Amino acid sequence: MSNSIKLSPKYGVNPTIPVCFWCGKERGEIALMGHIGDGRKHEDFEAPKYMVIDFEPCEECKKNMALGFTVMEATNSPNSISKMEMQKGVYPTGRFMVLKTEAAHRIFKGLAPGVSKAFLDVATFTQLFG
Ligand SMILES: [Zn+2]
Repeated sequence: MSNSIKLSPKYGVNPTIPVCFWCGKERGEIALMGHIGDGRKHEDFEAPKYMVIDFEPCEECKKNMALGFTVMEATNSPNSISKMEMQKGVYPTGRFMVLKTEAAHRIFKGLAPGVSKAFLDVATFTQLFG
């Protein structure tokens, strides 16, 4: 990928305000989307005012997640919240819990030390956290 953005013929740098995927708050940045299109019917989109552009947590969520063990609900195919993969075959729904590390090790037996994140399917997440 090159660092230069491809300008949109209609919308120029096409700015958007990135919002945190996890809490929905503004991340305090501006992202220049440039030309966005699906290469088919919609060749040149105007970026919405607010947009989730990736799964990078905002400062607040980062702080929160750093306190313990983060469990994220995810599906293995696109869901109503996310059409974007976070990892191969992992589509987070945005629901997450931060557990105390000791609690996480009690719930998930055999966790490797140093692991601080896990994905759970919807059924398991709901069973554990409601
Ligand atoms: Zn956040």
